[in-house]
Amino acid sequence: MLLSVIIPCYNEEAVIAETHRRLVEVMKKLPHGYELIFVNDGSNDNTFKVLSDIAAQDKNSRILSFSRNFGHQCAVAAGLQNCAGDAAVIIDADLQDPPAVILEMLDIMKAEQANVVYGVRKRRKGESWFKLFTAKIFYRLLNYLSDVKFPVDTGDFRLMDRKIINEFNALKEKNKYIRGLISWLGFKQAPCYYEREERFAGETKYPLRKMLKFAMIGLFYFSKKPLRLATSLGFFCVCLGLAFVLWMFISRFILGGATVQGWISTIAIVVFFGGVQLLTIGVLGQYIGNIFDEAKGRPEYIVSEKINF
Ligand code: UDP
Ligand code: MG
Repeated sequence: MLLSVIIPCYNEEAVIAETHRRLVEVMKKLPHGYELIFVNDGSNDNTFKVLSDIAAQDKNSRILSFSRNFGHQCAVAAGLQNCAGDAAVIIDADLQDPPAVILEMLDIMKAEQANVVYGVRKRRKGESWFKLFTAKIFYRLLNYLSDVKFPVDTGDFRLMDRKIINEFNALKEKNKYIRGLISWLGFKQAPCYYEREERFAGETKYPLRKMLKFAMIGLFYFSKKPLRLATSLGFFCVCLGLAFVLWMFISRFILGGATVQGWISTIAIVVFFGGVQLLTIGVLGQYIGNIFDEAKGRPEYIVSEKINF
C-alpha cells in the first residue's frame, strides 16, 4: 500500500518547510509507504527553491512545477493525475488542515469501507467573517441549484482510494470544481470532523477575484437551473406586460381616464425590462463562455519541471 499526499503550493515559501516537516512526522507513523507530491503552481517567490532543497534530501518528496500560475484546482488535478498511490490525500500547504487528521481519515476509510473520506470543518479559526458568510451563502445556493447534493463546510481536504482517483482522472472537463466532482462520482463517502486551524504563516492566496471564479465554475458546471430561472423571469415579465396592457384598456375605455400621464411608470418599465434582458443574456453568456473554454481543448496546465518522479 502506498499513500500519496498532494500539496498545492502557490507562493508558500514561509510555510512549506514546516509543512514538509509536519507531514513527514505523521507519515512515519504509517505501516506502509508514502509519497509527498508538491505541486508548485507557478509561484514567483522562493517556493520552488525551498521545494528543490527538500526533494534533494527526501526521496519521498516529489515536485511538479507549472510554467505559470494555473490555479489551485489545476494544481490538485495535476497531483491526482501524477500520483502512484493506492490512495491519495489532498491537503493545503498552509497547515490549516492539520496533517494528523490524515491518520483519522485512514482509520475511517478502513472502518467504514469508504471510498472517500472528506474533511468537515467543525470550527474555522482565524477566518474573516466575510469569508465565512459568503461561503455559507454560496454552498447553500449551490445545493439549492444543483441536482447533486454537496456536503457543506467541506473543502478539498479529503482521502480517496484508487477507484475514485481513476474515475476522477477519466473526467474530461478542463475547468474542474474538484470537491463537487468527487461528490458527483458517488461510491461510499464518509465524513471526518476536524478543527480547521489558522494559516501557519503568509497570506491567503485566494483573493476575491479567485474566489468568484471558483464559485462561478461550481455554479455553472453543476446546474442548469440559472437558465430555467432566466426563463421563469422572462415569463413573469410577459405576464406583467400583459397586466399593464389590460390596465391601459380599463383606464382608457371603462374608467375613461387619460393615459398620457406618468412617465415615471414608463421609465420604470424600460429599466426593468432592460435589466431583465441583460440579466438573462448574462446567464446565457456564462454558459457560452464555458462551452468556449471547453471547446478550445487546451491543456489544464503545463508542467515545466518534474523532480523525483
Ligand atoms: N493555491 C494554489 N494556487 C493558487 C492559489 C492557491 O496552488 O492560485 C494553494 C495554496 O498554496 C494553498 C491552497 O491552494 O495550499 C489553499 O489556498 P489558501 O490557503 O491561500 O486559501 P484559503 O485557505 O485562504 O481559502
Ligand atoms: Mg488556507
